[in-house]
Amino acid sequence: MPLLDRPDATTTALVRERLSLAVMTLAREAPFYAAVLGGMRRLEVADLGGPAGVRVRGSRVELLVDPAQLMGLAEGVLPGLLEHEVLHVVLRHPARRGERDAIAAVAGTDRVFDLFNVACDLAVNDLIARPLPPGGLLPRMFGLPGGLSAEAYYDALVDARDASSWELAVKSPLPGDGAAMDSHGSWGDSEGEDGSAGRGTRRTRSARAGRARIGACGPRGAGACPPPPR
Ligand SMILES: [Zn+2]
Repeated sequence: MPLLDRPDATTTALVRERLSLAVMTLAREAPFYAAVLGGMRRLEVADLGGPAGVRVRGSRVELLVDPAQLMGLAEGVLPGLLEHEVLHVVLRHPARRGERDAIAAVAGTDRVFDLFNVACDLAVNDLIARPLPPGGLLPRMFGLPGGLSAEAYYDALVDARDASSWELAVKSPLPGDGAAMDSHGSWGDSEGEDGSAGRGTRRTRSARAGRARIGACGPRGAGACPPPPR
């Protein structure tokens, strides 16, 4: 996730214009979100893993944007994307993972979900009435009700996962082409208010190991996988 120290000036201008228009929409229709966004430092990064993400460093909150991916989105979904990022910050999702490292294969696909990331997206997207970018997941897609916390969605997703195949059944086709609507990869870079590092290194290692295990036995290899990490 390299910081773009010399971003393309034309792209940067277009990205800033698009973000400004989206923030203006929120300022008119949802001033709270625009106010929170106004306090965030904006950084352009490459290979973010999604069009946007957030990182908390002490008392400073950073909004990370991947110019190439952001420019690929329709303008109409940008206010919803920004609302999504603000909700992750306000609900302190980057700090709430704890030991929630479970992953699951999506039945019928090659996709592997980090279930805490999915749970956080279900919790915030259920609160957003605006159009979401491709990849925006909603509780009903997993047969789950609205109005739950990230922790409750995580527990429900773990319970819904097949114990032997690690597969998670979906109730309707998932939106997008497999890409995430945003990146949670920078959450592990977050620092506590005392400057202490987040716990992302261990989590990243654990999630990577879990994905490697799924990859080794195949997402549809029922019965061949070790017990899932909890
Ligand atoms: Zn998200």
